[in-house]
Amino acid sequence: MTVRTRIAPSPTGDPHVGTAYIALFNLAFARQVGGKFILRIEDTDQSRSTKESEKTILDSLRWLGLDWDEGPDVGGDYGPYRQSERRDIYAKYAQQLLDDGHAFRCYLTSEELDAIRSQRREQGLPAAMHQSALALDQAEQEKRELAGAPFVVRMKIPSEGTCVFEDMLRGKIEIDWSMVDAQILLKSDGMPTYHLANVVDDHLMKISHVLRGEEWINSAPKHQLLYKYFNWEMPILCHMPLLRNPDKSKLSKRKNPTSILYYKRMGYLPEGLLNYLARMGWSMPDEREKFSREEMFANFDIKRVSLGGPIFDQTKLSWLNGLWIRENLTTVEFANEYQKWALNPEYLMQIIPLIQQRVEKFSDVAPLTNFFLSGMLDIDEENFSHKSLTIEDIRKTLQFAVWRLDTHNQWDKESLYNLLKSLADAMDLKIRDFLFPLFIAVAGTNQTVSIMDSMSILGPDMTRARLRHALNILGSASKKEAKRWEKEFKSL
Ligand code: GLU
Repeated sequence: MTVRTRIAPSPTGDPHVGTAYIALFNLAFARQVGGKFILRIEDTDQSRSTKESEKTILDSLRWLGLDWDEGPDVGGDYGPYRQSERRDIYAKYAQQLLDDGHAFRCYLTSEELDAIRSQRREQGLPAAMHQSALALDQAEQEKRELAGAPFVVRMKIPSEGTCVFEDMLRGKIEIDWSMVDAQILLKSDGMPTYHLANVVDDHLMKISHVLRGEEWINSAPKHQLLYKYFNWEMPILCHMPLLRNPDKSKLSKRKNPTSILYYKRMGYLPEGLLNYLARMGWSMPDEREKFSREEMFANFDIKRVSLGGPIFDQTKLSWLNGLWIRENLTTVEFANEYQKWALNPEYLMQIIPLIQQRVEKFSDVAPLTNFFLSGMLDIDEENFSHKSLTIEDIRKTLQFAVWRLDTHNQWDKESLYNLLKSLADAMDLKIRDFLFPLFIAVAGTNQTVSIMDSMSILGPDMTRARLRHALNILGSASKKEAKRWEKEFKSL
């Protein structure tokens, strides 16, 4: 069997370190046996997928040295490698499932679905609903069919018994069918859901092994059933342990920067970050900490993945990256790499237009812009002293801004301005006063370029990390205070 693995990112945001981690293990698994590694873009959720996100994901994975043999940008024999370009393929397979009686058209409206759900809750029935729970009576079904009412296609689920499947690391996994939903396969706009598209593509792209995050374990029964319905062989599954924050919770941008762009902007070397990701749950046979991509591939054995949730710890990452910086770069290489990091035209051209009109000589540039080339800023309570705002006001403003920005995905300066202006208005603060703590937290001073430009150039994770860093310096909210603030924040 030719080993073919894949990474299948959805282009819906910043490139996540978790994506790189899963890509690395798929790549290592394939390379170890001379197999192929494929990159497929899963952009069936058209409302959330963007071209920019796809580009930064591809650029970031490539920056890390995670090269694919087939993909949307390099081609291959099994393309197209972007699901939005494969729409017709999925519709055909959904029709096949309908024809074979393995799927059904569901005409329920969202109100009807809500009513069924709450009724089931009252009766203490499982939340997962099978075809029997979703059926309309025949006359009504026919009426809606004739009227051309909108429908989704759902798969049928066995009414009893247990699904058993094998996982390379976890052995047999059993999930009761009563826990499995009659999953939507095709949405009312004709777009497939992840489940249908993923199964069809893994099959057509001849994927032999699927290494993916453990959050997909509960989807495996649906996938296994689809393979059975289609009479296809299922790839071998392997659910990797999820990366965790130091407090053991699932790695999330609210607690820890997750974007690869953040780690790049912090000035980690791709070799250092990749080495650290390889250490997430995996070790070399001789347990050494520092090793290259090639050394990993040569020694790769999936059985050495340990299932205890690997902790993504920035201090440890910095330590490892430090070894790479000190031991693997000559002085000239260091200079070159630093120049590429700090003075590359793409980055400089975002900053220079903002400062050119503010300087008289080049030596004015560094003091104005050093925060663009820094990590966490060296600031203390003194920096936040303000003529009318108290430290309490400042802490609250920072906390509210963090909460607001946590759920904000667009990061251009207009949308940041609109978001923060509406928060300032709701808090009854003059925008100037409201922005002061943000200036100090993000730039270390308010005598610099516009804060919206700074935040948009630094990106969401660096901005959030600096705001959180400032809050830590000023003392983040006590439990009691946090409760009070949360209530106030929600009422805004
Ligand atoms: N598109 C899915 C994701 O974003 C892929 C999951 C899988 O590997 O099956 O994680």
